[in-house]
Amino acid sequence: MVRLVISSDGPAAAGGWREIFHSVAPELDVCSWYEPGLDLAHVDYALVWHPASEDLARMAHLKGIICTGAGINHLLHDPGFPLHVPLVRMGGEQTAALMADYVLWAALGLLRDSRTWAVQQQRAVWKNNRISRTCSEARVGVMGMGHLGGHVARHLHHVGFTVAGWRRSARDLPGIQVFSGNDALPDFLGELDILVNLLPSTHETRGMINHALLGALPRGAGFINVGRGNHVITDDLLRALDEGQVGAAVLDVTDPEPLPADHPLWRHERVTITPHVASEASREAQARYVRDVIHQMERHERPALLCDPARGY
Ligand code: NDP
Repeated sequence: MVRLVISSDGPAAAGGWREIFHSVAPELDVCSWYEPGLDLAHVDYALVWHPASEDLARMAHLKGIICTGAGINHLLHDPGFPLHVPLVRMGGEQTAALMADYVLWAALGLLRDSRTWAVQQQRAVWKNNRISRTCSEARVGVMGMGHLGGHVARHLHHVGFTVAGWRRSARDLPGIQVFSGNDALPDFLGELDILVNLLPSTHETRGMINHALLGALPRGAGFINVGRGNHVITDDLLRALDEGQVGAAVLDVTDPEPLPADHPLWRHERVTITPHVASEASREAQARYVRDVIHQMERHERPALLCDPARGY
């Protein structure tokens, strides 16, 4: 029997995970990482978020590690993480659909300037912000056109936005203009009403959303960050907001997380903050995805969301 050990969500979640796997994948032998006397040498797969890497290293026959997050930068930066074991990111239909819905919600909010309504409501102010602009009159750009970015772009395109994307490699998507590489960045940014960040956090992308990049957007553009907080130089974003270069921002990820209570982003009138909730699939959906990945790997097939540690995502 193939054995899966779970550390995600800590010891309190172990019983819940076991019940879910019992219903979606009864063929798997599911154990808790925290079980006393667990034989680490006889584990085939591990489902983790922030595991103790010294325990992972003792799982001598591990065939695969599956992360409950789509961002795996924290694992690759852990010096004890066993990079030789295949690492697969979280995916599945619900993960992609949740992200696409979140970005649609944020983009529509920016389009109608719903932040102004929220601020006015706090002060009991009844005032029309007089914005008559539909999604078909707005251009959204998605930085990071990978698994999630591709879904987001298609969703926005389907609703009526004009959509462009930016990625490392040149690869087209029907109806979406895709730019690739650093040389194409100014052309990509220069026409946008809304910029969406869905890049992974790597040594190339950390800190890249800075004064210069924000300055390359048309004045007053909106910004949605659903990638990672450390992509953004926060002081540069605050300055761009104060100067009107960025019209408003919706931030699901910040640096640090959680944001300290006295951080200026909390109180900025042009900023909407959500607590890293854009896309977290239900445990049932995650378990179905994990089951499918394990079945693929047992058949010696390559899972679609296998990470490349050298590339960093
Ligand atoms: P993918 O690896 O599938 O996609 C990453 C994309 O970024 C690819 O298109 C890749 O280009 C592009 N890219 C990477 N580096 C560069 C670079 N230097 N220059 C240009 N393009 C680059 O990742 P996912 O779509 O699955 O996830 C993206 C990120 O979303 C995650 O890493 C995570 O940080 C974040 N996330 C946030 C969540 C939330 O709730 N807020 C939930 C889930 C994920 P190419 O296609 O050419 O390789």
